[in-house]
Amino acid sequence: MLKIKKKAKPEKILLGDEVYILWQDGEESHISFFDLRDACPCASCIDELSGKKTLDAKSIPKDIHSLRSEYVGNYALRIYWSDSHDTGIFHFKMLRDFAKSRDFT
Ligand SMILES: [Zn+2]
Repeated sequence: MLKIKKKAKPEKILLGDEVYILWQDGEESHISFFDLRDACPCASCIDELSGKKTLDAKSIPKDIHSLRSEYVGNYALRIYWSDSHDTGIFHFKMLRDFAKSRDFT
């Protein structure tokens, strides 16, 4: 039980050239800004009723990056993007699963 909890909690989040997360269980995640912006789960990027993505990846600037970020409670991260989009709340669990799904090594 404790292990599962630790898995979903970041020890440290760094936003440099990408999103870097060190989890409390020692795992590390790297996610590119573009990929994460593309996966934004907010209501203007995903249709709430159908669950279908309405965001067009082509509309995302190639040099998208985070201007700043803040924790939401103790369960999520909010990112203020350079394309002035800031309604996406990224749950830690989603970040962890997303990083895993991108990890092909
Ligand atoms: Zn969004």
